[in-house]
Amino acid sequence: DTFGIKKVLEELGIKDINEGTSTGKSQFSSSAAFIKSFSPVDGELIGSVKISTQEDYEKVVESAQVAFKTWRNTPAPLRGEIVRQFGDKLRQKKEALGLLVSYEMGKSYQEGLGEVQEMIDICDFAVGLSRQLYGLTMHSERPGHRMYEQYHPLGIVGIISAFNFPVAVWAWNATLAWVCGDVCIWKPSEKTPLTGIACQNIAAEVFEANNLPEGISNLINGDQHVGSLLTKDTRVPLISATGSTRMGKIVAQDVAARLGKSLLELGGNNAIIVTPDADIKMTIIGAVFGAVGTCGQRCTSTRRLIIHDSMYDKVKDALVKAYSQLKIGNPLDETNHVGPLIDQDAVKMYQNALVEVENQGGKILIEGGVLVGENYKSGCYVKPAIAEVKPEYSIVQHETFAPILYLLKYSGDVENALHIQNNVAQGLSSAIMTNNLREAEQFLSVNGSDCGIANVNIGTSGAEIGGAFGGEKETGGGRESGSDAWKVYMRRQTNTINYTTNLPLAQGIKFEL
Ligand code: NAD
Repeated sequence: DTFGIKKVLEELGIKDINEGTSTGKSQFSSSAAFIKSFSPVDGELIGSVKISTQEDYEKVVESAQVAFKTWRNTPAPLRGEIVRQFGDKLRQKKEALGLLVSYEMGKSYQEGLGEVQEMIDICDFAVGLSRQLYGLTMHSERPGHRMYEQYHPLGIVGIISAFNFPVAVWAWNATLAWVCGDVCIWKPSEKTPLTGIACQNIAAEVFEANNLPEGISNLINGDQHVGSLLTKDTRVPLISATGSTRMGKIVAQDVAARLGKSLLELGGNNAIIVTPDADIKMTIIGAVFGAVGTCGQRCTSTRRLIIHDSMYDKVKDALVKAYSQLKIGNPLDETNHVGPLIDQDAVKMYQNALVEVENQGGKILIEGGVLVGENYKSGCYVKPAIAEVKPEYSIVQHETFAPILYLLKYSGDVENALHIQNNVAQGLSSAIMTNNLREAEQFLSVNGSDCGIANVNIGTSGAEIGGAFGGEKETGGGRESGSDAWKVYMRRQTNTINYTTNLPLAQGIKFEL
């Protein structure tokens, strides 16, 4: 037990890790089938988690429906108070949960802690929001009438999440849904099931301490088959799904087929435009962190650098120098910059992409490769690579979820760079490095970036919880987290009240008896 993981599991209330741990609600885990969770850090088996059966799922839905009746009648500011307590509990468990995130997913311990901090931040945001679920009032065109709108909870929100942010994405959704009066059923990634159980346990403790039903938060485990129980279920009015575009296209159709609502947060193909007026030092830090941080497994990871030809060699040389300093290894060791990929399948995809780059005519500038040896036992450690490519290569049109950075060249005006940037199917995060006001404003204008996130003198990677998060085109169009993203978790009702003794009709229509 090199990393003290046993103690961490204990602190997070995760029991029976050999027999298939469950949420602590044993009645919902009748299954004999397990997901085995292996750490990409050292390849060790961390524990087994029971896969939810159809029967378990039915019980979970029932428990959610019962909990909804209590929860929707709890005033929103009181729901906020519960979320405040949940945030406090996360503060107490930050180190343990951060370590488990790091060990199960493979991101650095710093990033694991950062992810828990993001959960805490969204709790604070949600607490404030619980007193600000505002609707508008309007002036009625009819005398003696009052008209306004109000927001009511939707019911059960289904949350499907990806492995790379195994806990924060759930919290973004769940905390907003809770203050809105909804209850949640979460299906975490089958690659990170233990962090899911840890979160459920933390939430359950808070509900129990307040004599509230645990069914306000529910957990089901398994792969896409378990996920599709949620997406096809008419009792689940909203599905919030985070993951690949491939998954989003299936989920969107399953949910649309029953006219449910979906909130999709899918893949990106994020670029930084490096203009002749870029600050080179900031550009290199932003680009390198963006490309190799979390081993290139962020939806906002930098995939493409679109560099003005006058800057190209300078940027290229600085990148080569920076990459030579990168330390790859155990993410729990803070001196390393790059940890492992999530699993062997991800390693294969990375290797295939590098072969494709060369097949399509690209030039490898920094060689990739899989690391072998005592420190890389899991087989998931790879070298961050850089390739020089052309925008029309099909490999550059796709998101490869690994640390491969593509260098592209543009000449002339920033419009040419924008054309390259926007000419892909995805539309999540984008950035421009420039000290030129005209270029920056052009990038942010209607003729500029077509992405959901557009940054000036900041890289593409990462975001603050205060803004609405998400992207356009094949990224799915959903928005989560800050700003008015809460509205998707509620149903809007327009109310008109007549306090006269007449019944005038709208648009002046006369109907007399
Ligand atoms: P994935 O698509 O393989 O899986 C994501 C989740 O969807 C998992 O829980 C999986 O079990 C579930 N799922 C897959 N097919 C399903 C189906 N047909 N029905 C129901 N559920 C289904 O993605 P991943 O490999 O875990 O994560 C990486 C991807 O996620 C990348 O493309 C990344 O860009 C994206 N991502 C996007 C955001 C964002 O906010 N836009 C955030 C994080 C990750």
